[in-house]
Amino acid sequence: MSQTYANYINGEWIGRGPLFENRNPANTGELVGNFVKATPRDVEDAAAAADAALPGWRGMSGPARGNILYKAADILDSRFDQVAADMTREEGKTLPEAKGEVRRSINIFRYFAGEGSRMAGMLAPSERDRVHMFAIRKPIGVVGLITPWNFPSAIPAWKLAPALICGNTVVLKPASAAPLSAWRIVEALHQAGAPKGVVNFVAGSGGELGQALVNAGPLKAVSFTGSCGIGEWLHAEASKRKLRIQLEMGGKNPTIVMADADFNSAVENVVNAAFFSTGQKCTATSRAIVEDAIYDRFVAAVVERAKKLKVGNGMEPGIEIGPCVDQAQMDTVLRYIEIGRKETGAPQCGGNRLADGALANGYFVEPTVFADVTEQQTIAREEIFGPVLAIMRAGDFEDAMRIANNIPFGLSSSIQTTNLSRAFEFIYRAEAGLLTVNLPSAGVEYQLPFGGSKDSSFGPKEQGPAAMEFYSDYKTIYLKY
Ligand code: NAP
Repeated sequence: MSQTYANYINGEWIGRGPLFENRNPANTGELVGNFVKATPRDVEDAAAAADAALPGWRGMSGPARGNILYKAADILDSRFDQVAADMTREEGKTLPEAKGEVRRSINIFRYFAGEGSRMAGMLAPSERDRVHMFAIRKPIGVVGLITPWNFPSAIPAWKLAPALICGNTVVLKPASAAPLSAWRIVEALHQAGAPKGVVNFVAGSGGELGQALVNAGPLKAVSFTGSCGIGEWLHAEASKRKLRIQLEMGGKNPTIVMADADFNSAVENVVNAAFFSTGQKCTATSRAIVEDAIYDRFVAAVVERAKKLKVGNGMEPGIEIGPCVDQAQMDTVLRYIEIGRKETGAPQCGGNRLADGALANGYFVEPTVFADVTEQQTIAREEIFGPVLAIMRAGDFEDAMRIANNIPFGLSSSIQTTNLSRAFEFIYRAEAGLLTVNLPSAGVEYQLPFGGSKDSSFGPKEQGPAAMEFYSDYKTIYLKY
């Protein structure tokens, strides 16, 4: 018997309504669990509960709120192996990757729990005699959080923790493809003693629940991570009501590889960033822009390495690449591979679904490398979100910078070089919010701001101290004494 996971509204698990299935993308025969499908009415109830809980929660001291977050982190930590295994089963990423993500969620909760004891405001000297002026932080109110499936624990964590520590109450809507990892966090918050109504969880179709969420009367802000199309729609809807909004969306991230790079580590970094987590990271490298002098050698080395990657069920030891998250995502990836074949020619490796033997019931696609991709070709311009790498040739550093920036997206960007001046040129000129030098383009931490630029993002950054800016506002006080 598989478990049924209820929605969580006003401190209660609400088990009414039809169910939807959460299946393992590595083996669709395995039912991970059933989730109760929330309705727009549930969303309204959740927002009303969050509104009712607001005075009590914002009135609690920051350290007291922090203690609840610390406790939730400890609860997650006590179930570490189970929570990580749940993630691999519902999303498909390998167990070591899932463990890394759960560890990050726990760390995020501890980091923001500590913010409860800081909650720094501002103090400035007044120009007037005997006037004391200062600014204190205040919460915004009820916040809607909408999250994608690719980091099903870390992204809910990096929205929930700062929202809560600032004194807001929340309605969380996780992705339908992988809701269990977020559910586990909500379960931990419940068991940690979060007062009723402070955290609410509604699972179900984004199309139906999204409208109800942006329309919910008490809502004051929305934080969304997901695709550009949905983000733009949300922005238009939220603007009608002047909701505060934060959007983190798609990317088409470049890694520049200069001839002076440490060759082997550049190959490893590009392979890691392009294929690990099945290329389903928003910061994944989907364009490798390689200097002419090492181009042929680099393509050959990446292809050789990509062919050796072990694809399979992420629960098995030694597996490096799991499945696409669902049929729709796999179909999208295979469609782009066909477009690539037509526009660019046959891939250097991969290009097919893998469905033999143990892989028959999963959504597996071979790590695929296209070479000699040019700037206007579709696979160099559109986000694929799968294990597909486009390698592009650059004449020199200037040419590589131009190609890297010549895209509407601006999430992450990377350079592989041993030339310090070039590394700094890149840092100042790269049009992206997250940069890496001699590291994979993917693989961020939580202690510093996270987010992109250009069409990839809108609004204040997430994570680190920057997160506090989105989830709180200032009250400025002038006091004559
Ligand atoms: P998505 O289809 O846009 O879905 C994201 C979330 O929005 C899900 O919870 C989804 O619910 C919900 N949603 C769908 N329609 C909605 C609507 N009309 N109103 C409100 N919410 C709605 O994205 P995804 O496929 O889950 O994730 C992949 C995308 O996320 C990629 O483009 C990737 O680049 C991006 N991403 C960006 C970042 C970043 O930080 N920049 C991080 C991770 C992922 P359902 O699941 O029920 O449809």
